Amino acid sequence: MPEYSFDTLSIHAGAKPDPATGARTTPIYQTTSFVFDDVDHAASLFNLQQFGNIYTRITNPTTAVLEERVAALEGGAAGLATASGHGAQLLIFHTLLQPGDHFVACKKLYGGSITQFSQSFQKFDWHVDWAETPDAAGIKAAITPKTKAVFIESLANPGGVIMDIEAIAKVAHEAGVPLIVDNTLASPYLCQPIKHGADIVVHSATKFLGGHGNSMGGIIVDAGTFDWSASDKYPSLSQPNEAYHGMKLHETFGNIAFAITCRVIGLRDLGPAISPFNSFMLITGIETLPLRMQRHSENALKVAEFLESHKEVSWVSYAGLKNSPYYDAHRKYCPKGAGAVFTFGVKGGYEAGVKLVNGIELFSHLANVGDTRSLIIHPASTTHRQLNEAQQEAAGAGPDVIRLSVGLEDAADLIADLDKALKG
Ligand SMILES: *Cc1c(COP(=O)(O)O)cnc(C)c1O
Repeated sequence: MPEYSFDTLSIHAGAKPDPATGARTTPIYQTTSFVFDDVDHAASLFNLQQFGNIYTRITNPTTAVLEERVAALEGGAAGLATASGHGAQLLIFHTLLQPGDHFVACKKLYGGSITQFSQSFQKFDWHVDWAETPDAAGIKAAITPKTKAVFIESLANPGGVIMDIEAIAKVAHEAGVPLIVDNTLASPYLCQPIKHGADIVVHSATKFLGGHGNSMGGIIVDAGTFDWSASDKYPSLSQPNEAYHGMKLHETFGNIAFAITCRVIGLRDLGPAISPFNSFMLITGIETLPLRMQRHSENALKVAEFLESHKEVSWVSYAGLKNSPYYDAHRKYCPKGAGAVFTFGVKGGYEAGVKLVNGIELFSHLANVGDTRSLIIHPASTTHRQLNEAQQEAAGAGPDVIRLSVGLEDAADLIADLDKALKG
């Protein structure tokens, strides 16, 4: 493909009219399995000597369009779609870690990722070491000889934090380990972590890529830049593989070896495959990603500016505001906008938070982000209610905190709705 721009790639990357029928949009290949030409063809597919479809747990033509499209938008070498963002994270760490291995992450993460890393991953004997501060110095201090990877979010949940990807990539590479960036909240329209040194990008496509709050999905993008054979840290990639007659996957697949290994070992054996129907919904969503992200960011800035001047609001944490400590990072890493998701504090604490979510009408009170619709949640009474107040504060979910995911409605209507509910 010629060097098309981002907006053009959002619509065309990976897709072409269906060779069998001429259908212009990508058909939903709702089939579990694919017929072999003959025994030799089947053997070459199973031996990974030739790319082709066998079974939808491993590859599917509708899903392949989604994978190629997101890889193009992120500027990566290859993509892999999964049933959810958490499924994608599972496959990444299954490819990188052996039992007993460690990785470093900072706590400015989606709550579900904190739980996945600190609780469920323990069962695989995989261990997270938390950085004390969400910056390169904090990450560096947490790295030990056992560290096999570094994990951050580009634009971190809950809102307002933009990580210094370049400095953190440098620290990871000095330690000989890859940097994984969860780019869910920014989307590749606002931020392209690979350009700043990330080796692996992961998405919950459930959020802004799909964009309409109707389909779960996850994506892994392999930048194609990390040398998996430079040390003995990554045996799944660098050592002979029993399941494939002793093949060394990095040696055989070069710059797409990480994505291939996630697929032919992780996805094949652990099984979190995306439904072709969901792939179709996500492809359709991505076609309008540039338009949506632009409007999300414009609306969020208007709403944040309104809240900043409201007498019932004590603080607003949004990187798009000039007084944010992350404003400069926003100009560097997300110059087109600071995204849709941010937090603010209501005067009057817990009771005021409850009153706001009970009184609001146009915003939907629910636990999600990245919908066309505006969403609101009061973490202390919902997602973080099992924590005590000190733990809530530490997680950025104190009693006064409200999180918004600003949608694509008219900003004036959103502001009027918030104003009415804040005044009670
Ligand atoms: C939602 C989310 C996830 C998890 O993705 P699912 O698709 O819900 O499994 C991971 N990271 C971030 C930043 C998210 O918002």
